[in-house]
Amino acid sequence: MLESTGADSINMASSKGILEDGLSNSEQFLDIDSLTKLAALAASVTSDCRCLLHDLSSWSTWPISYREQDFLQIGTLARLSSEEAILEEYHPAGTNYWSSTAPVAPRFYPYNQCTLWQCRCCSRIYLRHNDDGAYHVALRIRRLHAQFIVDAPHFNDGRESR
Ligand SMILES: [Zn+2]
Repeated sequence: MLESTGADSINMASSKGILEDGLSNSEQFLDIDSLTKLAALAASVTSDCRCLLHDLSSWSTWPISYREQDFLQIGTLARLSSEEAILEEYHPAGTNYWSSTAPVAPRFYPYNQCTLWQCRCCSRIYLRHNDDGAYHVALRIRRLHAQFIVDAPHFNDGRESR
């Protein structure tokens, strides 16, 4: 009988998450199309999950109850090193860094320094970056929502001009 084989392949598919086609490299650069596609897939996830314990719709300090191993890095939005990339943020509608409706504009800070992570349990997608403060580095996390992704241009393509 082939029934058990069928069940196995379903389990394998769900444990691998939604990324299978060569995007398993954690340092894979994700362009706006890939980002949008991932966000759309994540938006279809409706299951409850412990990654929803804290409201991460805006940038938050990594919650201490969250476990690093529950997330899998699936790529990066950083095309440039932190020295080359602009620190300018993109807020045409009067939002700020902390707004839950702040645009996710990959050429602009902090998105130009973000890595992308997938919850291993539910496949929801999260952005992470290290906020370099004067005294310590804060690890920040924000859930990726498709509706806030904006392909905003920058006159120097996100590169710091000197
Ligand atoms: Zn989750």
